[in-house]
Amino acid sequence: MNLYSTNNKDLRVPFKEGVFNSLPADKGLYMPENIPVLDPEFISDLHLYSLPEIAFQVSKAILNGAIPDDDLQRIVNEAINFEAPVVEISGRIHVLELFHGPSLAFKDFGARFMSRVMAYFLRQGEKELNVLVATSGDTGGAVALGFLGVANTMVTILYPKGKVSPIQELQLTTNGQNIRAVEIDGTFDDCQALVKRAFNDPKLKERFRLTSANSINISRLIPQTFYYFNAYAQLQRQGFSEVVFSVPSGNFGNIGAGMLALKMGLPVKQFLAATNVNDTVPSFLKTGVYQAKPSVQTWSNAMDVGDPSNWVRIMDLFGGNREELKKVLTGYSYSDEETLDAIKQVHADHGYIMCPHTAIAWLALKQWMNDHPSEEAAGVFLSTAHACKFPDIFPEEIAREIETPAQVKELEEKIRVVVSLGNDFESFRKYLLG
Ligand SMILES: *Cc1c(COP(=O)(O)O)cnc(C)c1O
Repeated sequence: MNLYSTNNKDLRVPFKEGVFNSLPADKGLYMPENIPVLDPEFISDLHLYSLPEIAFQVSKAILNGAIPDDDLQRIVNEAINFEAPVVEISGRIHVLELFHGPSLAFKDFGARFMSRVMAYFLRQGEKELNVLVATSGDTGGAVALGFLGVANTMVTILYPKGKVSPIQELQLTTNGQNIRAVEIDGTFDDCQALVKRAFNDPKLKERFRLTSANSINISRLIPQTFYYFNAYAQLQRQGFSEVVFSVPSGNFGNIGAGMLALKMGLPVKQFLAATNVNDTVPSFLKTGVYQAKPSVQTWSNAMDVGDPSNWVRIMDLFGGNREELKKVLTGYSYSDEETLDAIKQVHADHGYIMCPHTAIAWLALKQWMNDHPSEEAAGVFLSTAHACKFPDIFPEEIAREIETPAQVKELEEKIRVVVSLGNDFESFRKYLLG
């Protein structure tokens, strides 16, 4: 299996190279050279398969031999070792819960698969991989827990001191083994700047094999297709044959994977791109003008993105044709006030508690259903994180009801280890050189 760059379709690199580079030198994004269309019989029989079985079949088709079957099976079994249930909220409206992994967010799918794919390639006699990640919360936890105990890797996570939630801090600091947590006396931007400088430092580059393991890595996109197929399988068991997916979107990796699944033959009626007030994509779909903007801070802060990094992948899937894209993609954008009202309403009407990102996807789905009253497809909004990760957002009477999952309770027992550094590069460099 080869990859091309969205900036140069004549460029061809093997999958392994795309995994370790993350980005092609021309600053495009890697895309699979061939997108396989799955056997229609496999699609109509999806209900017969479990999530790991689906994950194996789908990744095998995309990777097309880049990883031998036995190894791929083992990678899938280790990475996708938690559930992604579709839960009915009311009538045709369902939620796809993607928060049952170790970091309680959907990023576990991408991070766990990527780390194991990297480890697989590293075993072919390669130098130890040093992963540097700056995080404002969710990404760091998924990457840390994804790489935990993975041979031949060392992960250093930088986060702004005092600026991540208590659960996120537990996820970053209690790992031990090959995971190191560094709190920086500064902002998330400071953390990002330190990581960027490290990648350009000649001495560090010579000493270590550095990678960012970031969210545009192709090996994070592929595993995110699995849960779309698996959601469809669950809906088949309830008698549905078509589905509308509403996806809370920031960098558009999640919904991009859904659209990849569509191209592979999954019968999706419509995708809804649900954003907060950072509405670059919904505006583009309406006006035809793609205008990147500075990001605005909201309560759904994992979606505070003004220039979504995966957007070019979606345009590429549709050959740059906005009219074709609009047939299957509708954009919606909501304010913090609307988000909070949605959380309260769904709690009051259905006793279900949604995180703020999830609430935006519910709003979009509700709107689409209202506009298409005779539609028979199942409606599914994706829940990207567990509500307990955002304790400050909820009114007291709802916050009280949020249950702390077992994964978090286990972390509370563990010892926290964290190194504190200032926001100057020299201290960070010295720390890395040990
Ligand atoms: C990362 C994240 C998102 C946004 O996903 P994208 O793939 O960047 O669109 C939404 N919700 C939560 C909780 C996240 O962590």
